[in-house]
Amino acid sequence: MKKRLFTPGPTPVPENVMLRMAAPIIHHRNPEFMEILTRVHEDLKYLFRTTQPVVVLSCSGTGGMEATISSLFKKGDKVITVNAGKFGERWGELVRIFTGNCVEEKVAWGSAIQPERLAELLKEHPDAKGVCLTHSETSTGTAADIQTLSALIREHSDALVVVDGITAVGAHEFHFDDWGVDICITGSQKGLMMPPGLALIAVSERAQDIIKGQSMTQYYLSLKHALKAHAGDDTPFTPAVSLVIGLDEALQMIKAEGIENIWKRHESLANACREGCNALGMKLFSNSPSFAVTPVWLPEGVKWSAFNKALKNSNGITVAAGQDDYKDKIFRISHLGFYDELDMLTVIGGIERALKEINFPFEIGAGVSAVQKAFLGN
Ligand SMILES: *Cc1c(COP(=O)(O)O)cnc(C)c1O
Repeated sequence: MKKRLFTPGPTPVPENVMLRMAAPIIHHRNPEFMEILTRVHEDLKYLFRTTQPVVVLSCSGTGGMEATISSLFKKGDKVITVNAGKFGERWGELVRIFTGNCVEEKVAWGSAIQPERLAELLKEHPDAKGVCLTHSETSTGTAADIQTLSALIREHSDALVVVDGITAVGAHEFHFDDWGVDICITGSQKGLMMPPGLALIAVSERAQDIIKGQSMTQYYLSLKHALKAHAGDDTPFTPAVSLVIGLDEALQMIKAEGIENIWKRHESLANACREGCNALGMKLFSNSPSFAVTPVWLPEGVKWSAFNKALKNSNGITVAAGQDDYKDKIFRISHLGFYDELDMLTVIGGIERALKEINFPFEIGAGVSAVQKAFLGN
């Protein structure tokens, strides 16, 4: 059976990326590899819309988050974190470990923090050294307005603007320089159409200055080490050579399509996916939907285990379950990275088949028809 992956990380990897990574391994000090890494560094600036360095770490996205918090802040630094889901919660966990001084703002799952609330927090905590945000909260499929939030932080304080862009980069419009962001992280297995294993981190000039002045609490996951090596288009340790080569291929695809077109494609796929779910009588979970992943309430009477089994065993489709309190309540359909319009027909068609198999009543073809109409017009 064909495997059809609709999860927000790992995401599908194009064949040409897989093939580039299958070539015989080369040494990371070879001129051939140095040329590739230099090009990757350049093309990552295009992806993040920045002239600042974007470092490549050999770890998953969380390693990038840990490197950020441990490199940017010192013991005692007050950091505001926004917890609107599983990944915003992770910012708080990291800050508590490395600085021990976390102001955590909890937001209901499915909602994004409102700018007015963040303004209040900044007023209450003028001594905050940083604010950690999540652009696309993958656990809830919810997008925050980073442009507005970043402008607000810049206006009201000197706090660094730290953004988890792990499922936003490549899905949502994002301008690292123009929006005044200090740190933005993504991971290879999300919007970059790559296997897991790399974290990519853009670092602003003022964040670089702060990092240079901090004493290191980490050896391997250190932005100080990474930035120093980056200045010579190098890495401090042996990089994940095959992944960097794959990333080179993926970035060529991204440049060929054009970043603005990629943002538009994600918006359009997300919209069609929501239309398809609505047409099947399913309720959407987020009130500020991400373009990377669509979270959907399981219809009443539908058990996640039976639904998931029907999707996977009969249709080869993997979607993501809900997390924590929403484990058996919602499921999440990814359209992040290497997806097109026909993929949305596939996943909604597959959901119809699974619903039929578990005897959930709906009008056959209603979801697929809504997806077609979203793309082709009525
Ligand atoms: C996937 C994800 C992470 C964690 O990345 P790992 O690669 O699993 O370590 C962090 N934040 C967001 C928003 C994510 O989607």
